[in-house]
Amino acid sequence: MSAKLIDGKAIAAALRASVKAETHRLTATHGIEPGLAVVLVGDDAASKTYVASKSRAVVEVGMRPLDYHLPAATGEAELLALVQALNADPAVTGILVQLPLPPQIDPARILNSIDPNKDVDGFHPLNAGRLMTGLPALVPATPVACLKLIKSVHPSLAGLNALMVGRSHIVGNPLSQVLLNENATVTIAHTHTRNLPDHCRRAEVLCVAIGCAEFIRGDWIKPGATVIDVGINRVTDAAGKSRIVGDVNFAEALDVAGAITPVPGGVGPMTIVCLLVNTLRAACAQAGLPPPAV
Ligand code: NAP
Repeated sequence: MSAKLIDGKAIAAALRASVKAETHRLTATHGIEPGLAVVLVGDDAASKTYVASKSRAVVEVGMRPLDYHLPAATGEAELLALVQALNADPAVTGILVQLPLPPQIDPARILNSIDPNKDVDGFHPLNAGRLMTGLPALVPATPVACLKLIKSVHPSLAGLNALMVGRSHIVGNPLSQVLLNENATVTIAHTHTRNLPDHCRRAEVLCVAIGCAEFIRGDWIKPGATVIDVGINRVTDAAGKSRIVGDVNFAEALDVAGAITPVPGGVGPMTIVCLLVNTLRAACAQAGLPPPAV
């Protein structure tokens, strides 16, 4: 068998076009221009790259980018004051504080200070709790992205056996809850799980977010399963050439899975567009409008 490739780039492009159309409709009909405040503290190279691509994506769909770049020596009180000012500013409909933060700043204190209605990363405990209790919530972008990719293969997840490998607050935990809310039968695996290959072999939908290069082997995968590989790992080959790989051994999985996301080109491109979806949702909710059709 050769698995169908779940083309994250193509699905992301279509979603981006819908977000752009809905954003223009919101501005034209209601005079609302969603504004995403992205706060970067310090000069971490990877964070700078992420922030730049987020700002480009924001502009592309007709939203307003509001970028704040603070020095690495910024204190916690100063950052809290900025978040409070953004919370109070009606032109700011979404707030994102790029992680990691410098060591003098407690990330939990900062994330918990963001107005939950503007929390487009979905990391605030109120949004996590709302997701857990089935209430409307801002859900972290990567799980939203994964669900959209799974639904391109399975329009309904009801009754499917899903395995979530990884239980971080950013990906694994919220994604397992998203799958449960879609009526999948969900198992969550982590570093204490015994017989991980056996759990994988039962999964009709296998989602992996562990940060271990090519860890999941082909013979762990149930034939025909849908595999969502969230991992982003940089590896260097024998010739010294570096490349990005996922948490799943892609070459092996291709022969067994029914459908699989490539890395790069799978979950990654969808994540940024799902951040824009959240920004649009937040803007509509703040204006008392129904959720956008994206
Ligand atoms: P994380 O916070 O480090 O969490 C990793 C999780 O995986 C933990 O729950 C850990 O279990 C579990 N784990 C680690 N090794 C394992 C193993 N050998 N067997 C079973 N479980 C194992 O990572 P994260 O933030 O969720 O990110 C995971 C990966 O996704 C990374 O490669 C990251 O770069 C990538 N990522 C991609 C996107 C995207 O847009 N594509 C977005 C976010 C993250 P314990 O809880 O027991 O320690």
